[in-house]
Amino acid sequence: MRFAPGSHMPGKSHFRCSHCRSDVPIDAPGTAHRNHCPLCLWSRHLDGERPGDRAAGCGGSMEPIAITARKSGEWAIVHRCDVCAELHTNRTAADDNPLLLLQLAVRPLARPPFPLHLLESI
Ligand SMILES: [Zn+2]
Ligand SMILES: [Zn+2]
Repeated sequence: MRFAPGSHMPGKSHFRCSHCRSDVPIDAPGTAHRNHCPLCLWSRHLDGERPGDRAAGCGGSMEPIAITARKSGEWAIVHRCDVCAELHTNRTAADDNPLLLLQLAVRPLARPPFPLHLLESI
């Protein structure tokens, strides 16, 4: 399915999340292209190089695996496709689940790759 960048399917105002099955309104506060579910943060592999271009033919589910902060301080979610393993970063929307965003952001700190008590001897 292909349609012009920046336009929505006529008459279509929601999409069905492929992960949690929620009906998600396409219009999102704070972003022109809602590309992930605000409830579970999963996305679908639809876009190519540019957000909203719908140039990818993959269609796989994209797992939110990390948070990155841009120079402006704006947060973006790193998504990894579970079919082709491509990575995308997508800016967060104002109605994204804040608890899940924080869980993603602190995940590396919650699971350090070394025993924390070793830091005392450095
Ligand atoms: Zn979802
Ligand atoms: Zn993919």
